[in-house]
Amino acid sequence: MIGGGFIGSELAASLTATGRKVTMVFPEPGVAWRVLPASLSGFVTDYYREQGVDVLTEETVVSADARSVTTGSGRTLEADVVVAGLGIEPSTELADAAGIAVDNGIVVDELGQVEGSQDVFAAGDVASFPVPALGRRFRVEHEDHAKTHGKIVGANMAGAGMPYHHLPFFYSDMFERGYEAVGEVDSRLATVERWEVPNREGVVAYVDESRRPRGFLFWNVWDKIERGRELIRAGEPIDSVLLV
Ligand SMILES: Cc1cc2nc3c(=O)[nH]c(=O)nc-3n(C[C@H](O)[C@H](O)[C@H](O)COP(=O)(O)OP(=O)(O)OC[C@H]3O[C@@H](n4cnc5c(N)ncnc54)[C@H](O)[C@@H]3O)c2cc1C
Repeated sequence: MIGGGFIGSELAASLTATGRKVTMVFPEPGVAWRVLPASLSGFVTDYYREQGVDVLTEETVVSADARSVTTGSGRTLEADVVVAGLGIEPSTELADAAGIAVDNGIVVDELGQVEGSQDVFAAGDVASFPVPALGRRFRVEHEDHAKTHGKIVGANMAGAGMPYHHLPFFYSDMFERGYEAVGEVDSRLATVERWEVPNREGVVAYVDESRRPRGFLFWNVWDKIERGRELIRAGEPIDSVLLV
């Protein structure tokens, strides 16, 4: 398994759970490093190893074919199957050729309309859309956003005039652990954490310099997404007492 993000971590867990021997190779220090706080990523990486996954962190891939991978440190890993879960880079040639502004994704306004154009809209994975509650643009590759944005932008194409203010959520499962998350869930942000059971059940708030929440990770904690949305929209500083 090349990659330790959503695809790599979920596939490694499900393949291992069905009896396959999996080796993960990725350049970050831990599983789901870009999403999870460092300490939680470290815990999850150890947990994957306990489940039998051979996790090669801080390791790159210099070449691969269907049956083997050569790593940056010179190891050759033989495999029956090689899976690459490397994320995507937007292919922007079509939008560029059409003269449509691209900033990571197709730049749209709150209605999903391409700025300066009456009849061109974009929604879902390709769209870079404003999130007023967080004061910046996002491009999101998740199901909840794709469905909700698609529905609202479609209505706007028919003249509904409905701004998209939805804060999309996403989820992931890793063996019997899992999470739901909403907002800007970026491990480069500072966090405020409240753990009922350390690394097993708790809430992580990703905060700005004033401790205002920008995103939430609910780790083995369910049905709290709406509460997370409320706290992000409220924009008030939080502490761990409030994370319930
Ligand atoms: C392997 C994988 C696993 C995922 N797992 C999850 C998950 O567990 N949870 C989650 O929340 N999200 C997950 N996602 C993300 C989720 O699938 C996407 O966010 C969602 O599908 C985006 O919907 P969309 O309609 O914007 O784009 P897509 O579903 O990608 O649809 C785009 C469509 O446009 C077509 N197209 C592309 N270029 C052109 C062109 N030039 N002309 C005409 N048609 C074109 C494509 O062929 C495709 O039919 C996963 C994605 C992948 C790839």
